[in-house]
Amino acid sequence: MKYVDEFRDAELIRKTSEEIHRLVDPNRKYRFMEVCGGHTFSIFRFGIQNLLPGNIELVHGPGCPVCVLPMGRMDDGLTIAQQKNVIFTAFGDVMRVPGRKGSPLELRAKGADIRMIYSPLDALKIAVDHPDRKVVLFAIGFETTAPSTALTLLRARDLNVSNFFVFSNHVLILPAIRAILDSPDMRIDGFLGPGHVSAVIGARPYEFITKHYNKPLVISGFEPLDLLQSILMLVKQLKEGRCEVENQYSRVVPWEGNVPALNAMNKVFEVRPFFEWRGLGFITQSALKLRSEFSQWDAEVHFEVEGVRVTDPKAAQCGEVLKGVLRPHQCKLFGKECTPEHPVGALMVSSEGACAAYYHHVHLRQAVGE
Ligand code: SF4
Repeated sequence: MKYVDEFRDAELIRKTSEEIHRLVDPNRKYRFMEVCGGHTFSIFRFGIQNLLPGNIELVHGPGCPVCVLPMGRMDDGLTIAQQKNVIFTAFGDVMRVPGRKGSPLELRAKGADIRMIYSPLDALKIAVDHPDRKVVLFAIGFETTAPSTALTLLRARDLNVSNFFVFSNHVLILPAIRAILDSPDMRIDGFLGPGHVSAVIGARPYEFITKHYNKPLVISGFEPLDLLQSILMLVKQLKEGRCEVENQYSRVVPWEGNVPALNAMNKVFEVRPFFEWRGLGFITQSALKLRSEFSQWDAEVHFEVEGVRVTDPKAAQCGEVLKGVLRPHQCKLFGKECTPEHPVGALMVSSEGACAAYYHHVHLRQAVGE
């Protein structure tokens, strides 16, 4: 199959759903974690859970980069944004993430020069167009977006742009999965591997999950049939007593990854010794910082970032939701104090955040009278 329509074919979807129903063991429960926020969004959008037997539970993982960003990191970025002569640039998802003194959008309303961008190159262009200002890119994302930041920095170096700075919040997916697997309350039977990240890193790096933790992983695409086929592959592995990395999304994900993208990342970034994740705490070697050769473009060097640590509001249970211990609606604040219009936690901000996806899904169902 090559076209999106084929992955939304109602007949194929029905057959795959039936096969899952036929193969599952009715005497056990299955908990599969979709690591990627894009999968969370698709699962709610297409109502995938409704096509599954009641004993398969989909657990939402930490794969939304905005959701795992600790509030302190947002505050550090906004401290830079409020400095004289700075233009602060960020993706749309980041604009509504709450910091202690408000979100980027709120600070913009108070006068800070904060601009929304669609790609890191937009930020570089602003820097070229405003040589008298300091332009900061609030870089965020997993291995999916880190290559484009890296390529932008290489371009900044080639063009000799000295008023462009990167505040790197890029994080790595594998240490996060390892942290979840090491967590004492871990109860996951298998993983839906992230499609976009895997297009960069490939399938091989997940082998430690099958070898050392004995959990199967299937890299999945984002269409309804992709997700159902991947769940079927997980169910089959468990039924047959296999534990392997399988690649359902081979039309996009090469087993060895995207070598030019990995090379660009390696040129520009090195792994931080440790980095704080919202809900998961400090995870060693889980994030990327600029190499010393690029320090003249490093916002953390140029602006001497303080490194504030801020705990989330006490009642917010983002950490439990991120680890799959609680479902979004089980947080005490869900739909009351915390809504997409007034998010308390970051999981309510991005469309890929579990709480926002769940909130929109519940309201959509209410709207159509289900
Ligand atoms: S409802 Fe809000 S506070 Fe609760 S887990 Fe979700 S984002 Fe966090």
